[in-house]
Amino acid sequence: MRDAQPKNIYLKDYQSPLFLIDQTHLRFDLFEDYTQVDSRLVMRRNRQQHQNNNEPLVLVGQQLALLDIKVDGELLTSADYLLEGDLLTIYKVSNNFELEISNRIEPQNNTALEGLYKSSGMFCTQCEAEGFRRITYYLDRPDVMSIFTTEVIADKARYPILLSNGNAVAQAELAAGRHSITWHDPHKKPCYLFALVAGDLMVKDGSFTTMSGRMVELKIFVEPQNIDKTDYAMDALKRSMKWDEDKYGREYDLDIFMIVAVDDFNMGAMENKGLNIFNSSCVLANPQTATDAAYQRIEAIVAHEYFHNWSGNRVTCRDWFQLSLKEGFTVYRDAQFTADMNSKTVKRIEDAAIMRTVQFAEDAGPMAHPVQPDSFIEISNFYTVTIYEKGAEIVGMIHKLMGDAGFRKGSDLYFERHDGQAVTIDEFVSAMEDANNTSLTQFKRWYKVAGTPRVDVVSHYDAEAKSYRLDFKQSTSEAFLIPIELGLIAQDGSVLEASLSSCAENKADCYDGQLFQLTETEQSLIFSDVAEEPVPSLLRDFSAPIKLNYAYSRDQLLFLMQFDSDGFNRWDAGQNLALDVIFEVMQQQKNGQPITVDQRLITAYQGLLQQSGLDYAMLAKAMLLPSVSYIAETQAEIDIHAINNARSQVQAILADALAEDLLCLYEKLNTQTAYLPEPAQMAQRGLKNTALAYLLKSSDPQYCQLAVNQFGTNDNMTDSMAALSSLVNSAYSTAASIALEEFYQQWSAEPLVVNQWLAVQAGSVEYGNLENINKLLSHEAFDIKNPNKVRSVIGTFAGQSLVNFHAVDGAGYQLLADKIILLNTLNPQIASRLVAPLSKWRRYVASQGVQMKKQLQRIMAQEDLSKDVYEVVSKSLAAE
Ligand SMILES: [Zn+2]
Repeated sequence: MRDAQPKNIYLKDYQSPLFLIDQTHLRFDLFEDYTQVDSRLVMRRNRQQHQNNNEPLVLVGQQLALLDIKVDGELLTSADYLLEGDLLTIYKVSNNFELEISNRIEPQNNTALEGLYKSSGMFCTQCEAEGFRRITYYLDRPDVMSIFTTEVIADKARYPILLSNGNAVAQAELAAGRHSITWHDPHKKPCYLFALVAGDLMVKDGSFTTMSGRMVELKIFVEPQNIDKTDYAMDALKRSMKWDEDKYGREYDLDIFMIVAVDDFNMGAMENKGLNIFNSSCVLANPQTATDAAYQRIEAIVAHEYFHNWSGNRVTCRDWFQLSLKEGFTVYRDAQFTADMNSKTVKRIEDAAIMRTVQFAEDAGPMAHPVQPDSFIEISNFYTVTIYEKGAEIVGMIHKLMGDAGFRKGSDLYFERHDGQAVTIDEFVSAMEDANNTSLTQFKRWYKVAGTPRVDVVSHYDAEAKSYRLDFKQSTSEAFLIPIELGLIAQDGSVLEASLSSCAENKADCYDGQLFQLTETEQSLIFSDVAEEPVPSLLRDFSAPIKLNYAYSRDQLLFLMQFDSDGFNRWDAGQNLALDVIFEVMQQQKNGQPITVDQRLITAYQGLLQQSGLDYAMLAKAMLLPSVSYIAETQAEIDIHAINNARSQVQAILADALAEDLLCLYEKLNTQTAYLPEPAQMAQRGLKNTALAYLLKSSDPQYCQLAVNQFGTNDNMTDSMAALSSLVNSAYSTAASIALEEFYQQWSAEPLVVNQWLAVQAGSVEYGNLENINKLLSHEAFDIKNPNKVRSVIGTFAGQSLVNFHAVDGAGYQLLADKIILLNTLNPQIASRLVAPLSKWRRYVASQGVQMKKQLQRIMAQEDLSKDVYEVVSKSLAAE
């Protein structure tokens, strides 16, 4: 067992830094067997914050070989400092001094992929959150902001490209075939935004002229074989730069903006100042190798990282408890961008689905934490859907409360007031309050309290008095401020113009005709002059991340599916109807009754298919049944097999009933147009492939050939992969095997395509796939050290192949635990992220929960458990 348990770090213990670093001069000498790092730091005591500060200087460093230390040019002896664990204490320093440190590191042996490491022969870095301490001794905390100058030296033939943040200011040819390039970043930044890249890379060039007329060079660096996969990222980057100027008035601030694609990467991408480093899966695309989904991901992530230049880099976080300050706001900004570039409603549906399946589950599990957490053991565990997506929902609610103009005023004030600073979430909220002359005191509860609020709504119609009342009741004893968009739909489908006759006391402005501000635990809205009983359309546009309950009848849901003028709620009504039907089938199964599916659901889906003029992207969303994960999230006790059986039955019955319409739609959409990654085409392909997947679920075997044909004859990966996926997730295992084999033969030289091939198999929803997962894990294409491959096989298996992960004999749990144990020492961040599917063991039926718990206990008993894995596993096992 471990000697000491990893410790919690608390927000309440925050202290401003005792020392500041005005300038950071770094010199990297890169060799194959080690890298020497020489740093020269211009430092001073932080006397402004700490008046009688005579404390020693304490720096942090991990896995570094210290060579020597100088203060103001004087070499220190071992009596002048103490190196203990990760802390380097230097006893005597004056108020202003220069500190020089030399140390060595071994990037080639760094499998954690934090700090400086090697990926496919190139050197690269990942410093957020605490990777910089694996490079040199430093004040590795975001509120220490410094001006960086970085010299990179390496063998010129092997590493012709040497990059760091800012602008290149000097270069030199050195002896023994080596060369050096020096970079200077004029903007102060915390060390988590530091980046370095050295490699043999090709560059795709572009340029952008900013709103003030400055020309910015744009460069995307990739390995030579990938140079034909950079066009889309470049295009997305230019659109992002323009959009941020138009929407937020934010202009780019350096002469050059660089993106580098890296194969081995723990995250999606990283917003290092002026030098973004991307997981190659989030930047490389061409029609032959990337699906529409990959194109959409690239557009969103390029935008996200670019937007960080203001929301994250110019204004950064004071400490890691404020992580959502930059992530929540930036996710919100990238969601707005995606909505503007594509369909606003579809984007909202996708985001709401993530909240309801993944975030609500996290909020109900052992790792539940507020958007501004008050403690953590390992910050890497807090790069969560709560910090990111719920954080973005909170910013979205502020936007709804302030209106478009008010929100822009608030963001302008925030950027203006805090440019060049490291600040807190409270300061973000203050800027919004001050710009709009309002108070968000009650609203701030969203940041501080974990869990998903529930709101129950009941309606009463008084036909004689022509009055209509909606009673709202919050589940928590202390009320949240919840913005609820609503509309009342008349029998003819129009929106009723009802006048509000009363709300709560002193809350006369709680409803503006669209947006209701629920501020009490119990509150009612009473409308007068309501001529007929309306159907309420509640929580339109998913205006708050809550669970809202209203006892809709199936007929009311059918009515909303047809008439609701809010696209999101029209979709949601269909989901609720399908959910209700699936629940009924689950009950029939449990009682041993024959399975019947409400004809109204079939008719409604038929209506969708036959309605002309419906947006293709919306229709594709509307046709999909609620996912197994979403259904699971609605259950008090989860039985994955019962859920999956019921859902599959409903799906098969729909597929049979709708086969003719689906085929007709498929044929109409299956046009031979040259591939373009643009929204209209993507929507058409998406709907076509939804129809195809349905047809393969019907009992008529003729549709298998449809998928086989599509697989064999197309010019793009989207259609190819969709055909392959529909075969893999069908009963036609022979056709699937042939296609899989053929696909691998064709694409084995393209790692990103091979990853999709791994994932499509690992995610199969057909029973009995465990044996194949084991085969994939020992396949030549798999590599446990590459995070993308781990995510493709192990992550996809545990996250999507739910019937196999939850195999009744527990073999799926054991497989996952084995891999977590293996990765614990290799790459703790990745290992820790894989624990989530086991962590919710208490929610499952006892026979499964017990086996999940057993695997968690087995992981817990490992020696050398990393902080990362320890935190998630110990919290999962802790008594409730
Ligand atoms: Zn981010």
